[in-house]
Amino acid sequence: MDSSSSLTQIRALIRAVADFPKPGIVFRDITPLLADAGGFARCVDALAEPWQGSGVQAVCGIESRGFIFGAALAQKLHAGFVPLRKPNKLPPPVVSVDYELEYGVDRLEARSDALRPGERVLIVDDVLATGGTVAAARALVEKLGAQLVGASIVIELAALQGRSRWQDDTPLHALLRY
Ligand code: AMP
Repeated sequence: MDSSSSLTQIRALIRAVADFPKPGIVFRDITPLLADAGGFARCVDALAEPWQGSGVQAVCGIESRGFIFGAALAQKLHAGFVPLRKPNKLPPPVVSVDYELEYGVDRLEARSDALRPGERVLIVDDVLATGGTVAAARALVEKLGAQLVGASIVIELAALQGRSRWQDDTPLHALLRY
C-alpha cells in the first residue's frame, strides 16, 4: 500500500463524535483505528517514518492516548518509553510543568530521573488542539535536561492553530490534518 492510500485508510478509521465531551467540540475518537490490526500497524509505521535514522533514544508519550501510540513507536524506533503523566500518578521525586486549559490549569509530571542529560527525545500524542499540552511536554523534557528531537502527533486540528505555540523549527510532525 502506498503512503497516501495508507493515510486515507487511517483517516477512515478515526471517528468524529459531535458535541463530546462538551457542546461544540468535535471529538476525534481513535479507538476504531486501534481496534483495526492493519490500520494501527500502518499508523505506527507512518508515525515512525520521519524519525528513522534520527537517533531517538527515548519516546515520551503524553497520558493517556499518547501512551498507546508512543509505546508502539518506541518499539519501532528501538527506543525506550517514558510516560509523561497527569498529576499525582507517579511516586516522588517528580519534575512537573503546569499549563493552561480552556478552564483552569493542568500539570504534566515525569520521574526526576526519567531522562538522561542530552538524551535524544521524541514527544508523542494523539491530538494537537490548542497546543498547550505538547508545549508543556516540551517544557518538561527540557527541564529534565534532555535534547528534544521533535514531536509526533496523529491528528492536528489545524483551525485551533496549536502549531503557533511550538516556539521554533524543531520538527512537529502530524500524520493527519483536519
Ligand atoms: P491541547 O492542549 O488543546 O492541544 O489538547 C490536546 C490534548 O487534548 C490531547 O492530549 C488530546 O488527547 C486532547 N484533545 C483535545 N481536543 C481533542 C479532540 N477534539 N478530540 C480528541 N482529543 C482531543
